[in-house]
Amino acid sequence: MTGRLRPLPRSLDPLADESIHGYLLRLAHRFGVAPLEIAVRTGLVVQGRGRNGIPVRLLHDLDEQRLDAFARATCLTHDEVRGLLTALLGERYGPLNAGLLAEFRTPSGMLHNNRWILTRATRYCPRCLTGDGTEIEERHGGCWRRSWRLPPVFACLRHQRPLLYGCPRCGQDINTARAGSLVARASEAGLHPAQCRATIPGTRAICGASLVDGEANRLPHSPSTVAALLRLQHHFDRLLDPGGPKSVGSFGWLVPVAQHFIDLRALSALIFMTWPCGRELADTEALAMLVDREAEKRHAEFAKSRAEAEAGRRRQASHHYSNPAADPAVAGAVLGIAAKLLAAPDENETHEVMAPIIDRAKERNFSMSYQFRSFGGSSYPLQAILLTSRRDRGALQRMEQRIESKGFSRLTGAEQFTR
Ligand SMILES: [Zn+2]
Ligand SMILES: [Zn+2]
Repeated sequence: MTGRLRPLPRSLDPLADESIHGYLLRLAHRFGVAPLEIAVRTGLVVQGRGRNGIPVRLLHDLDEQRLDAFARATCLTHDEVRGLLTALLGERYGPLNAGLLAEFRTPSGMLHNNRWILTRATRYCPRCLTGDGTEIEERHGGCWRRSWRLPPVFACLRHQRPLLYGCPRCGQDINTARAGSLVARASEAGLHPAQCRATIPGTRAICGASLVDGEANRLPHSPSTVAALLRLQHHFDRLLDPGGPKSVGSFGWLVPVAQHFIDLRALSALIFMTWPCGRELADTEALAMLVDREAEKRHAEFAKSRAEAEAGRRRQASHHYSNPAADPAVAGAVLGIAAKLLAAPDENETHEVMAPIIDRAKERNFSMSYQFRSFGGSSYPLQAILLTSRRDRGALQRMEQRIESKGFSRLTGAEQFTR
């Protein structure tokens, strides 16, 4: 398959934190060909088998053969190619960490059922896509960042603004045309990397709207809401930074950063499930109202799936509550509440803030509440605390001993989101 590949006559240097999706779009634009043709010429896709586009799993990881072929065709080092993939983010971001999540051992398994990497929703910062003014970015646009695939990345600190999702003109997800492909309409040539690739409903036409024009540069929220989102993003970016702290507090115990992100995921599910329970912890009323709308939609979907489960038509699904929000501001609002809950400094305070949420979750659906309280891959302290009855003093003492015997220590320093 790869024997006949020759290096491309020209290549491009990857930008910092660029995803393979963005890199393919820029290469395609540079050569004036379709992204699918670049994927074939660089060995990502076998000629003739690309009818379904570019497999979305290539976003995450490449097997050795593909990695080698792609590196040779693009004149990049193997490390530079790995830098375009999301696999390495798993070291700090637990929902992509195969060591913590046994069910996601293969790259396709990692992406197929894992909603905590955004493969269907496309977030972007219009100012990043505009480019930094250098000649190469003037011509082919700026950086589609890898980190925009992570639900806890909902704002751009470089440009001090929340990310956007959806096209400013057609309102659809810009990659919506083919959910299974890394790039929508991958066999279409001639689009700029910062153009919407959605298909206009009822036609074959591509929307093609620019994602970087003046409209996209307006801030979608009030200054206080933007400030709250940026503050939380600063905290998460520090945790995601390869040089950032190794551990962080979950309910008063130091846990590895990667696992803390799974703890946030578990709490995000509990927050949606029991909304409006945690509403008073939202940073601004505007953020609370965004979650009101999203939770209403999720409660309705949950009720519908419960009715179907009761009629024996299918199993009760939990994804209505456990999926992250596609809208960056909603994701930021819910994760902000989750971060504040996890910042409770000890068991007493944890039980105070968590009791209404746990009681409501049990009431709504006991087995699902159990599933979220013992979420796969979440930290031992989180599971122990959320599964131990706060009324049983003896059990609480034994729980503390068990957490310590697993090697966890109490949080004493500053590695904490301030509430
Ligand atoms: Zn930006
Ligand atoms: Zn559009």
